[in-house]
Amino acid sequence: MISKLPGIGTTIFTVMTALANKHNAINLSQGFPDFPVDPLLNELTYKAIRNEHNQYAPMAGLMLLKEGISEIIYDNYSRSINPDTEITITSGATEALFAAISAVIKPGDEVIMFDPSYDSYEPAVLLNGGVCVRISLEFPEYKINWAKVNSALTKKTRMIIINSPNNPACSVVDANDIAELKNIISGNEIYLLSDEVYEHIVFDGKKHLSFISDEDLFNRSFVVSSFGKTYHITGWKVGYCTAPEYLTSELRKVHQFLTFSTSTPFQHALSEYIKDKGRIKSLKKFYQDKRNYFLELIKDTKFKPLNCSGTYFQLLDYSDISKDNDVEFALHLTEKFKIASIPVSVFYKEKPDHKVLRFCFAKKEETLERAAENLKKAG
Ligand code: PMP
Ligand code: GLN
Repeated sequence: MISKLPGIGTTIFTVMTALANKHNAINLSQGFPDFPVDPLLNELTYKAIRNEHNQYAPMAGLMLLKEGISEIIYDNYSRSINPDTEITITSGATEALFAAISAVIKPGDEVIMFDPSYDSYEPAVLLNGGVCVRISLEFPEYKINWAKVNSALTKKTRMIIINSPNNPACSVVDANDIAELKNIISGNEIYLLSDEVYEHIVFDGKKHLSFISDEDLFNRSFVVSSFGKTYHITGWKVGYCTAPEYLTSELRKVHQFLTFSTSTPFQHALSEYIKDKGRIKSLKKFYQDKRNYFLELIKDTKFKPLNCSGTYFQLLDYSDISKDNDVEFALHLTEKFKIASIPVSVFYKEKPDHKVLRFCFAKKEETLERAAENLKKAG
């Protein structure tokens, strides 16, 4: 059989969650909250179903929801977005990423992405006949080396994928990165895919710099967001893509045949729920407190925290504990010490020998406490 993705296996998130279940380990690997969803959000969904909102939603998304999103965007990024022509509701950010790449990437087009890169980018590019140009972020700050980007540019460069806050590197782009990027795209036919699913989870007084806020960037961008991260509902798979009209219309050509539309009752529930903008504003502190609590719990171990500016993940360096590579050590921790994490090297083309694992702290305090007990035993 001919495989279109010969080098691609099962995603590490599925592998590590299965391993955590098999060994009855605390699962800080795949990123999802283990605390309950706001009962109001559940109630709004039941209400939508009771009210018979059970048939196809409009292809591009429920207008009420898109209007609400447009208000949130204005509130956060001071830009008026037309909900009719510039927002598309998708079945998770994953679908938006795939649709955006499929909308513009033709065979032979080069797409620049930064390693460690979130694992859905590469297969989407490959399935469209594109070529991935992967540039490693500078360790340990995980910053973009713009000189390397400049030398990677060719006439075939068609897209640059930026993910800030970055999963799994947990770094964020700054004003200098934005200026460098603007310089690069100026005069070139390069589109931007800005994966901003952790846009509301940024720490230590840092600010998320959305591509929506910048005129030059937005005019070339597909900006991807996810309700999964913002409202603790990763299993709902509802996301959206904000893009200028000419890109939105290309994205929708793909979206309409990929999934056609996204779950109707969930869209109804969300369109009511997102009216309270306070929820987004409280998210930073909510997760920063969780991160600080986790770090406090493990401060006497030999795990060394890396500087993490955003997302709900914490990177820990284990070089004082083991010489194993990160895949081996992640397996060892899961089997022996009953704590599952994600090895970061799997997100690289050129595997580095960094001794770093990613831990998800979107968990109840009690889970973090049990996790810390296991980490203490390991080091
Ligand atoms: N991009 C990044 C960087 C992510 O971490 C995730 C999921 N955690 C996604 C995209 C996919 O989001 P969704 O679950 O909404 O498809
Ligand atoms: N994005 C989530 C993470 O980083 C996982 C999503 C998935 O399992 N597809 O853990």
